[in-house]
Parts: sequence; C-alpha cells; structure tokens
Amino acid sequence: MRSLHFLYHEIRPTQTEYSYVIDVEDFKKHIDLMVAMRARNDLELYPCVTFDDGHISNFEYALPILQERGIEAHFFITAGWTGNKPGYMSWQELRSLHASGQAIGAHGWSHTLLTHCNAKELHAELNNSRMILEDKLGAPVTAMSLPGGRYNRRVLTACEEAGYKQIYTSIPRSEPERHGLTIGRLNIRKDMKLAWIEDLFNPSKSALPRLERLYQVKAAAQALMGDRMYEKLWAILNREEPDAHAAEATRE
Ligand SMILES: [Zn+2]
Repeated sequence: MRSLHFLYHEIRPTQTEYSYVIDVEDFKKHIDLMVAMRARNDLELYPCVTFDDGHISNFEYALPILQERGIEAHFFITAGWTGNKPGYMSWQELRSLHASGQAIGAHGWSHTLLTHCNAKELHAELNNSRMILEDKLGAPVTAMSLPGGRYNRRVLTACEEAGYKQIYTSIPRSEPERHGLTIGRLNIRKDMKLAWIEDLFNPSKSALPRLERLYQVKAAAQALMGDRMYEKLWAILNREEPDAHAAEATRE
C-alpha cells in the first residue's frame, strides 16, 4: 500500500480568505474522511497528516480533533519561533503535544529557504533546530520538512549529514511503503473541496498525477522568475493577509 501525506499549516475557527488557513470545521471533515479511508479494506492509499511551522492553532484546535479520532500526526517545528514568535507554540505546549503521542520533526531554525543558505548557515539551520528540539523534548528528532518546500542536492546532502533520515517535501505525490529519503506531501489549501480530496483516493480519477504535473509547472515558473518575484505573485494569488504572522511561513 502507498501512503499519501497531507500538509496543513494554520487551523482557525473563523473564516479567512487566506488560502493556507483551514477552517476548524473543514479540518474536522478532512480528518473524518481520513478516518473513514483508513477503515476501508480496499484501501490503496493510506492517508497521513502533517503540519508545518508550529502554529499555536495546531495545539489549540488540531490536537483535540486528532485525539478524538485517534490520529497521530507529524508536526514540523520552526525551532527558532518556538516560545519566541507570537502565534507559535511555546516549549511547554510543544512538550505537551509530544507527550500526547504526536510525532515532532524539525522545520529549520528561522524558516529561511535552505536553498538560499551558505554552508555555514545550512549547518546552523539544520543542526541547531534538531539539537534544541531533542534537548527540550528528550527524544530523538530524525525527520524534517523543508521550509517553502525548496531543496536541491546540496540541501539534501546537508540534511543527511545533520542526521535526518526522512525529509518531507511539498511535492504532491504518494509514497511506497518503504519510502526513500524524501517524502512528498499534498499542501492543503482552503479552496480544495472535500469531494475533491476524496477523489484523490480513487486512482481512476487521476487527481493526484494531475496535481503533480501542475506542481512541476509551478516549480519551473518559480525557477524562471526567481524567488522574489515568485513570492510577490504567490501573495496575490493566495490572498495573503497583509499582517499575517503565518505569511512568511507558508509560501510553498
Ligand atoms: Zn513552513
């Protein structure tokens, strides 16, 4: 069986236009769908849940929903924001999240795109984040997700050298049971309807391969435009909130 990893950022009880903030009620429906999918005996794709950035809403809203439904998710934390940046979890909240049985991974120190880092910065982003997470949680941290989903061969090598065994990307594709070093994920946006998400589990609908092709086109556009121009366009297309504390976190 293959697995399909879903990627969330912020969950909010009030409506917003911002694409990367998912409404609490919609999130419940997504998780209910995943529970129903996992229970099917003709299942071909096993759904997994991940979160990037360490937003406080992951602890306040997502955790109780996951606990009620017995789902264990993987939370990737921007270590330098923890206990430091308004809107993000404190160390105490993170410890409590971990103690409740949820998995914790790293998401860099400062959320700098790793492809922009020189060797020294790359080392600091990858090692400092893993060490502080391991120290504060008292548990090994061997998985990370790439800020902005950006990577190249140099970044992957540095991740492996820093002790990471699994590297989560934002490439929307399913993974075989014995997955390799990188693990693709589907970045969930507000405009993705429940019926469309359900179609992802139906191979005859080809929703997932279509999405991966679209991602490749987007990645090519990004490479042509450069990160700065791409981020301006991203902000317009995703109705980014002018003062969103999540904004810099989520430009995937
Ligand atoms: Zn992020």
